[in-house]
Amino acid sequence: MLILLPRLLVTMLRRAVFYFLALALLAVLIEGQQQRSKRAKRSSKTHAQRAKHKPAKPPITGFVTDSGGRELIVRLLDIGQGDATYIRNGSSRVIIDGGPDPVAFGRYLDSLNLDNSTIDVVILSHQHLDHYSGLRELFRTSRHIHVRYFLENKDPAPAVTLAELRDSILSRMDRDSLIYRDTDDPCSDGRPICTIAMTGGAKLHILAPFPGGDGPNNRSTAVKLIGPDSASFTMWLAGDAEHEEISWFDSTGYSQNPGMRVNVLKADHHGSCNGVTPRYLALTGPQWIVASLGVHNAFGHMHSQAKKIYRAAGAPWYRTDQNGTITIRSPGTVGGGFTITPERAGTDLDGPSDRVSRQPGCATE
Ligand SMILES: [Zn+2]
Repeated sequence: MLILLPRLLVTMLRRAVFYFLALALLAVLIEGQQQRSKRAKRSSKTHAQRAKHKPAKPPITGFVTDSGGRELIVRLLDIGQGDATYIRNGSSRVIIDGGPDPVAFGRYLDSLNLDNSTIDVVILSHQHLDHYSGLRELFRTSRHIHVRYFLENKDPAPAVTLAELRDSILSRMDRDSLIYRDTDDPCSDGRPICTIAMTGGAKLHILAPFPGGDGPNNRSTAVKLIGPDSASFTMWLAGDAEHEEISWFDSTGYSQNPGMRVNVLKADHHGSCNGVTPRYLALTGPQWIVASLGVHNAFGHMHSQAKKIYRAAGAPWYRTDQNGTITIRSPGTVGGGFTITPERAGTDLDGPSDRVSRQPGCATE
């Protein structure tokens, strides 16, 4: 009994220590769990608060349906007062001008899923802000967009934002193998016409601008786009070329080679009366006119005289300020034709800025 008592005490003490340790461990586990759930609550609150302040998604239709086959897709983007055209055929992508606003153009890059992609050819028609400014967004590092060829006329220009764009191009040349070409020699071989083949079978003729053009508009690079089935679809885009350069296109022989007759004409200079003549429409013979312009513009675009000439030639028009983005599709099959679809319906519409222009060279009404 005398020997048994201490043993019993030792056993009881051991048990007490065991239970104490077990309870302490349990308390630590419960405390940890409470801390974790508090943290989780805090973090979900932060997510909810963040969601509240997240900028609204841009109100632009998603363009993810672009196929990679033979189909040719041309989108005249509703970019405001300016020009921005996206062309897709097979795996080839071409951009002509980027509009006046990098933010607006960036939204289209988003909706077209162009981050982390390659743009084969970028063409700046001429050096006005409403054509080049948006293109700066292509070179935003976070987008990881690879541009293979960049073409522009490289004329000296004072604009700081254009200098920024050119700096981006030059730095890509150094580290990203971008090829920077002058539209005065678009293939770097002395010929005035450079032809680019897209992987779905479409072709792009890039035409050197009028060497003596007076001012940036008359130094616009013209582009003739030919669908994979050339009998189905062709298009002529000539930036902001005015009367002087338009008549030079004819006299220099572009009306013969590569030929100016097309299915769709992008209205020169946003539907200005100085961007069209009856002769120009006789040479191009378009079934459709598409014009890119802003709903409120100080220039009076589209000019009444221009609309009168389009009407007289029997060519209906869509315009981005009234119709939104205009999408042209040609399937690339023989005799497949083309479709032209505006975001918002209505042809031959007038806009609130439209007026008669008093500038010289335009008809007086
Ligand atoms: Zn313009």
